[in-house]
Amino acid sequence: MVLVKDINCHHAVGLIGEYLEGKLPRRDRRRLEKHLAGCDACSAYLEQMRATIALAGSVGPDDLSTEALDALLNVFDNYQRENRENGEDVSGAS
Ligand SMILES: [Zn+2]
Repeated sequence: MVLVKDINCHHAVGLIGEYLEGKLPRRDRRRLEKHLAGCDACSAYLEQMRATIALAGSVGPDDLSTEALDALLNVFDNYQRENRENGEDVSGAS
């Protein structure tokens, strides 16, 4: 088994634009998909980007303002902190 160095949410969000455009190298794509599989926040972001692209035709990192990105990352931080404090499994408890 190959251990892939984990990427954080900031990195993941930065990759999602290229991912959706199919520009991401396979190695990065796999790292991103691995992150998405374990991160609800980034998965939600990916879905949002997909919906945006479906509406707008195409969207890239340049279309995201720095402020929007910062706000988004703050949401991610809070989200993860809350989940960590609750000590609960994020992936649907039941
Ligand atoms: Zn994430």
